[in-house]
Amino acid sequence: MAIRKIITTENPILRQKAKKVHHFDASLQKLTDDMFETMHVSNGVGLAAPQIALSIRVFVAEYEDRKVVIFNPEIIKAEGEEIGTEGCLSIPGYVGENIRRAAKITVKGQDVRGKNIRVTAEGWFARIMQHEIDHLDGILFIDRLDSPEDLKEVGEDDEGYLEDDGEIVLAE
Ligand SMILES: [Zn+2]
Repeated sequence: MAIRKIITTENPILRQKAKKVHHFDASLQKLTDDMFETMHVSNGVGLAAPQIALSIRVFVAEYEDRKVVIFNPEIIKAEGEEIGTEGCLSIPGYVGENIRRAAKITVKGQDVRGKNIRVTAEGWFARIMQHEIDHLDGILFIDRLDSPEDLKEVGEDDEGYLEDDGEIVLAE
């Protein structure tokens, strides 16, 4: 396994619509192993391929007793609404508050071998999956803020991030 570099908002790959995966081979097992390892060392709960500069439709997520890898994910059912706080490994030093997500979703897609799968989740795990699926369409949590005041700085490591890169644009 290997740790991949996580890209941040100044990299335009994060804003691209990722391509569907049609060809399933052994390289994908290695890729998803790397994605889990990269996510773990970064203390994340989800990681989408565009975050490691690969514009293809796959994400991994792991939280408590749930662990999934979903290629070509599509939300086929969404119920209810919850608001919550989200961070993103590609937007270090910030969290977004009051972000609306469906409370319960069912996602269909394929596993690492291309077999069709369906995953249902609610609450926090449903939120993680919606956040990761957004990445595959070039959407970041900062696009889902109702108000710029909902973007909060956390920690001291990344002070000055906004001035330095200027790429964070709030959807107002
Ligand atoms: Zn993210």
